[in-house]
Amino acid sequence: MQPRRVAVLGGGPGGLYTARLLKLANPACDVRVYEQGDPGSTFGFGVGLAAGTQRKLEAADPDTLRDLVAAGLRHDMTMRVGADSVRVHNDRLIGIARTELLAVLQRHAEKAGVELDFGTRRAAGDLDADLVVAADGVGSATRENGSFGGRIDVGKGLYLWCGTDFALDAAMFAPVETDYGTFVTHAYPYSGDRSTFLIETDEETWRRAGFDTTTAALGSAGTESDETSLRFLEQAFAEQLRGHPLIGNRTRWLRFRTVHCDRWSSGNTVLLGDAAHTAHFSIGSGTKLAMEDAIALVDALGEAENVGAAFARYEQVRRPSVERLQELARRSRLWWESFPSRTGLPVERLMVAYMSRAGNVPLDRFATTAPDVVRAALEQYGGEPAVGNLAGWVLGRPLVHGGRRFPDRTSVPELETLACALDDPWSPEGDELVARARDTDGVLVTGPPARPALLTRLDLAERVRLETGVLTAVEGPAELRDDLADGLVSGRTDLVVLTEETA
Ligand SMILES: Cc1cc2nc3c(=O)[nH]c(=O)nc-3n(C[C@H](O)[C@H](O)[C@H](O)COP(=O)(O)OP(=O)(O)OC[C@H]3O[C@@H](n4cnc5c(N)ncnc54)[C@H](O)[C@@H]3O)c2cc1C
Repeated sequence: MQPRRVAVLGGGPGGLYTARLLKLANPACDVRVYEQGDPGSTFGFGVGLAAGTQRKLEAADPDTLRDLVAAGLRHDMTMRVGADSVRVHNDRLIGIARTELLAVLQRHAEKAGVELDFGTRRAAGDLDADLVVAADGVGSATRENGSFGGRIDVGKGLYLWCGTDFALDAAMFAPVETDYGTFVTHAYPYSGDRSTFLIETDEETWRRAGFDTTTAALGSAGTESDETSLRFLEQAFAEQLRGHPLIGNRTRWLRFRTVHCDRWSSGNTVLLGDAAHTAHFSIGSGTKLAMEDAIALVDALGEAENVGAAFARYEQVRRPSVERLQELARRSRLWWESFPSRTGLPVERLMVAYMSRAGNVPLDRFATTAPDVVRAALEQYGGEPAVGNLAGWVLGRPLVHGGRRFPDRTSVPELETLACALDDPWSPEGDELVARARDTDGVLVTGPPARPALLTRLDLAERVRLETGVLTAVEGPAELRDDLADGLVSGRTDLVVLTEETA
C-alpha cells in the first residue's frame, strides 16, 4: 500500500528510523515525526549495538549504519571480580552515545524528506494521518490509553543509569562489596571521553544504604539526579572509575519494566519499539528491537493491500523474535538479580556462566570466539586440560563432594527428588524448594523434558547449591547434554542424570 500521510509519535530511535525508511520507500508520502523534546535533549548515556543488529541495519539502510558505526566505539568485554579479570575480544560490538545516535537518525530522516516537529507533546488520536506509528517509548500514553492489552512486569532489582568522563578500554562487569551489600556495574565506553556506568543492586542492599529515602526525596518531576547515591557509588567504584566522577542525567534508581501487549495495533495506530515491548537492559537490545521493528513495519506496508493487513503482517513477522528476546532477557535479568551469590567462581568460569545465562550461547560456540577463556574455565572445572568432545569430557570428570567421591558427573547416588515446575527459581515457590533441600543429603531436581524447563531446573539447582551447600543433580534428556555440560562448568549443578531422548 502507499499511505499518503503518516504521523510518527516519538522521535526516539524507533520513530526516527521508521520515518526515514518509510520516506525512502515512499517518496511521495508525507511523513512527520512529532517529538515532545528538543533536538539535542535526551536522557541516558550510551547504548550498545551488537554485530547481528549492525548486519540488519546494513541491509536496510547502509548509509545510516555507516554513520552510526563512525560515531560509535568498538570494544571488548571484561569481567572483573576483585583483582581478577578476564577479557573477551569482540570486534563488532559498538557503544554509541544516545545523543549521537539520535543526531545521526534525525539527520538521515531529514535528508530523506521527513518533517521533524519538536517541542510539543501530542496524543496519537489528535494526529491527522492515514496511519499513526506510536513509537512513544516505555511509558507510551498511546498504549496506556488504547486497547492493546498492555501489561508491565516490574523487576525485583534496582538500577541506576549514569556515566563517567573517560573511555574505559573495554566493557566491564564488576561487583563491588560495600557495608550495605553488593553493587554491580555494567559499564562500557561509547565515545573517546565517555562511558556508560550502569549500576544495579538488590532491594535489601538499596534499603540498607538508605537509597529508598533518597529516591523518595527526589519527587516525581524526574529532572534531578540522585546525587547522594552518585557520590556514594563514586567512592565504592573508585578503583574501576580510576578516580573519575559518576555523572548523572536525571539519574535515579529504577526497577526495570518489561512491557508486553496482546496486540500491537488498533484501528489506524500501530505500536513500535519500547511502546510495544521492552527487554531487560542486560541483553542490550532495546534499540535493536525498535529499529528492527521499523524495518519490518515498512516492509509490511510495502507488501500489504491495506493498513490492517500491513499491521497484521508486521506483528506476525516481529512477534516471534521479540518474544524470544524477551524470554532471553527475563532469564538474563534473573541471573543478574542473583549475581552476587556466584562471585566465588573463578572469573573465567563466571564468564562462561554469564555467556550461558540465558541459554543462547552454548559452550562450544563460545569456545570458538574465546578459546583461551573456555580452556581456562574447563581446566578450573576439571582440574586438567580438556581433551576431545567437550560435553563428553565435562560429563566424564570426577567429583569430590563432602567427602564423597564420584567417578564422573553422571554417577548419581539415591537422592531426594525436588520436582521443579516454576518459571522463577527466586520466587516464593523457589524459596520453599530451597528450604526443603536444606534438610537433605542432596537433591535430584526433576521436571519436564523441554529445554526451557531444563534451563530453569539448572538455575534452581544452582540456587540450592549456593545457598545450602548440599549435593545437587539435575535430570535432563540426553539430547540436551550440551546444556547440562554448560550447567556443570558454570557451577549450576554438581551432577546430571541423562534421561532418554525425547524426539
Ligand atoms: C538503563 C538502560 C540501558 C539501556 N541500554 C541499552 C543498550 O545498551 N542497548 C540498547 O539497544 N538499548 C538499551 N536501552 C534501551 C533503549 O534506550 C530503548 O529501548 C530505545 O531507546 C527504544 O527506542 P524507542 O524509539 O522505542 O523509544 P524511546 O527511545 O524511549 O523514544 C520515545 C520518544 O518518544 C517521545 N515521546 C513520548 N511520548 C510522547 C508524546 N506524547 N508526544 C511526543 N513525543 C513523545 C519521547 O520524548 C522519546 O523521545 C537501555 C534502556 C535503559 C533504561
